[in-house]
Amino acid sequence: MVVHLRDQLQTLIKGKISAYEPMSRHTTWRIGGPADLFLQPEDWKDIEKALNFANDQEIPVTIIGGGSNLLIDDKGIRGLVIKTTGLNKLEFFNDKVKVGAGMGLPLLAIKSGQNGLTGLEFAASIPGTVGGAVLMNAGAHGGAMEQIVEQVTVMDRLGKIHTFKKEELDFKYRSSKLKGLPYIVLEVLIKLSWGEREDILKKISSHKMFRNERQPLKYPNAGSVFKNPPGDSAGRLIEQVGAKGWQVGKAQVSEQHANFIVNLGGATSKDILNLMDLIQKAVKKEYGVTLEPEIIFLGG
Ligand SMILES: Cc1cc2nc3c(=O)[nH]c(=O)nc-3n(C[C@H](O)[C@H](O)[C@H](O)COP(=O)(O)OP(=O)(O)OC[C@H]3O[C@@H](n4cnc5c(N)ncnc54)[C@H](O)[C@@H]3O)c2cc1C
Repeated sequence: MVVHLRDQLQTLIKGKISAYEPMSRHTTWRIGGPADLFLQPEDWKDIEKALNFANDQEIPVTIIGGGSNLLIDDKGIRGLVIKTTGLNKLEFFNDKVKVGAGMGLPLLAIKSGQNGLTGLEFAASIPGTVGGAVLMNAGAHGGAMEQIVEQVTVMDRLGKIHTFKKEELDFKYRSSKLKGLPYIVLEVLIKLSWGEREDILKKISSHKMFRNERQPLKYPNAGSVFKNPPGDSAGRLIEQVGAKGWQVGKAQVSEQHANFIVNLGGATSKDILNLMDLIQKAVKKEYGVTLEPEIIFLGG
């Protein structure tokens, strides 16, 4: 049945479709079972056609970008998964950039810096796509997407295009209005400022060095697992309850950064969830604080 649907859909669109694609190949945690159907669209038309097909066949649709903020169930994802990384057009005009949602944020930050545009230095070490970063209002080093996004173009599940101005996106800490809505981010208009090329590139390098020293980047991970509670740091609380080094199966609380859980090799989604549960219970018991996940759970 799935293979038949794949063959049918492939006749309609240019991008590659696969059946039973292991999602562990598409998440930075290297965790996640198979997606029934997996599409990497080449353009907006591909997405529109795939959505129409999914609507006709009553198949659920899930969108992913770089998979850098995702925990995907070991059982995988039923229906169609659309990965946006093929939407990577980039156009600079003056101090603005119009960029496809699938463009990698680090590459965009570097290209902007090379063009003498400042404002994206904070994003150079956030390993996701522009679309995922807008949805999550990704941020670091005092910067966040809400400071530079001017307008976002999205497609709804019926294939209709809408645009949202920044003011309509209701950006909050690691969140935006788009997070709860069934839209696919297609393109983002970003406003930067003119700066000194060398200074910008130096700042990017120093952010990278800072992270290389503090984050457990040699193991698969998904960045910070929990959001910082108001006025505090999730990493500090997790460290204070002595959780560094705690392990469930092959998932371990990083010794280097307590808000990172690393995959030591072969960790399952269940390992991660059980470890998260232990951490949440310990922090609640000791400090009365409920840690809220920053990562997004998909599938099952
Ligand atoms: C080593 C490491 C360091 C990190 N550091 C930071 C950091 O400093 N700051 C920070 O904020 N985050 C950080 N992250 C987390 C992550 O990189 C960001 O949240 C990133 O913005 C997620 O983008 P993505 O493309 O990978 O999205 P995904 O993880 O693929 O998806 C995240 C969510 O966005 C949705 N989505 C993705 N693309 C689209 C689209 N085009 N349209 C509609 N919905 C979409 C997905 O459905 C999902 O709900 C880090 C992660 C890692 C692994």
